Amino acid sequence: MSDQQAEVVIVGAGPTGLMLAGDLAEAGVETLVLEKRGAGISNLSRAFGVHARTMEMFDARGIAEELLSRGGARLPGIRLFNRVSLHLAELETRFPYLLMAPQYDVERVLLRRATDAGARIRYDCAVTDVEQADGRVALTTGRGRFTAAYAVAADGVGSGVRKAIGMPYPGESVLESIMLADVRLAEPPAESPAIHGVNGAFCFVADFGDGYWRVFAWNSADQRGDDEPVELDELKEAARLAFGTDFGMRDPRWISRFHSDERQVPEYRDGNVFLAGDAAHCHSPAGGQGMNTGIQDAANLSWKLAAVLRGADPALLDTYHAERHPVGKAVLRSSGAMIRLAAERSKLKAAIGGLAAAAALSVKPIERKAMGMISGVGIHYGHGKDEDALVGTRARDTALADGTRLYEALRRGRFVVLDSAEAAPAAAVGAASAAPDGLARVVRPDGYIGWAGPDDPAAIRDYLETRTGER
Ligand SMILES: Cc1cc2nc3c(=O)[nH]c(=O)nc-3n(C[C@H](O)[C@H](O)[C@H](O)COP(=O)(O)OP(=O)(O)OC[C@H]3O[C@@H](n4cnc5c(N)ncnc54)[C@H](O)[C@@H]3O)c2cc1C
Repeated sequence: MSDQQAEVVIVGAGPTGLMLAGDLAEAGVETLVLEKRGAGISNLSRAFGVHARTMEMFDARGIAEELLSRGGARLPGIRLFNRVSLHLAELETRFPYLLMAPQYDVERVLLRRATDAGARIRYDCAVTDVEQADGRVALTTGRGRFTAAYAVAADGVGSGVRKAIGMPYPGESVLESIMLADVRLAEPPAESPAIHGVNGAFCFVADFGDGYWRVFAWNSADQRGDDEPVELDELKEAARLAFGTDFGMRDPRWISRFHSDERQVPEYRDGNVFLAGDAAHCHSPAGGQGMNTGIQDAANLSWKLAAVLRGADPALLDTYHAERHPVGKAVLRSSGAMIRLAAERSKLKAAIGGLAAAAALSVKPIERKAMGMISGVGIHYGHGKDEDALVGTRARDTALADGTRLYEALRRGRFVVLDSAEAAPAAAVGAASAAPDGLARVVRPDGYIGWAGPDDPAAIRDYLETRTGER
């Protein structure tokens, strides 16, 4: 294949594009990433937290330990405005916390994995146009034309691919002039993260564990354009209003201002072009779900693209929109509710409404639902009316009879057939649970249950054939 061609071209080497590139390359798919940045120039540290479900996905790829070894703090819970508590330590997962890890660390690990697996990356290569004809996609860049069977727009919130294919991105701007910085604190708060909002301001501080703290702050009385530089004093003033102290903020390693939009494309697919990550949805940073949702989009799409390229039923690709669009919509809703709560709570005259919302959220089942959504472990894709209720739910990690774990078995990038009497077909890995419950299950490569029920080798073979093209 010429170096201007690939089976899949991914536009954008952010967390979404790199996760997808690694998955596809490991599955043996010819993968090319086109990135407008120069080599070695990293994205700014926007996201700072990796949630439990994303860690599970990294575990299923053998890269969770590499990220953990960077030593980020592990936050066992999040408390919002002294009212709402998310007890992440109670989550049933190997990773019951929010891992503080700057986005560039996550990207570094994903980049290493993708290139080790054989994905090619072309830097200084901005995509300016996209055409589709005869089942192929052609992408125009300053370095010539690239063609592929499929292309994925992982080029972020300003996606040029999205514009080139004429896909709308409806939504609205939610909050302007949010300040963001990584600073040292002379007098850190007793707990991390600490979030508070009164006097028309809110502020969030969280410990990275490397001597720096991430700060978000907003002051309704001091609203400026995105391009206006942020002074440390402006940040301190918002913190003082919200917390009554600026914690002795100093030495910012970087500081910026942004506005928060809520937008989502109506379709995650246009012919042979797919949209993922911020190119498909964006929302407030409250809850820290943007990067996590993009990485999970990639995990959902990668095995489907690889399977269809190897002969699986092409209808499988439509399930990407069907499964991930509702998740994106739910994230928009929950992160929007949180940022509005923060803004409302910070204004004295609206405090009663804010407190009422917080009080409603503090009801245990709602807290648990919010925790499932934010950590990602509660996300599920639903099931057909004749299917077992387990179908579409996240497969929990499980000890296997051979002493390993389910998420280690998933590192082969294949389906795992659990507790079936028949040997798994070539397209899957067969395994026995250490404590079987009488049900057989087929776990998809992205760690969701695809089939479940009393053991039925013929039904399992049929299920796998349509999803892999192999029998
Ligand atoms: C202030 C802030 C704080 C945030 N905090 C969190 C958080 O705590 N947790 C969280 O999960 N998320 C957070 N997010 C969101 C998170 O940063 C994004 O959701 C995430 O970066 C999206 O990843 P992506 O790969 O989809 O897009 P991006 O990271 O934007 O990557 C897109 C890539 O595409 C490249 N590109 C763009 N256009 C082209 C083109 N035409 N041709 C080729 N390449 C192109 C870009 O250079 C870039 O490398 C935050 C965002 C902001 C702004």
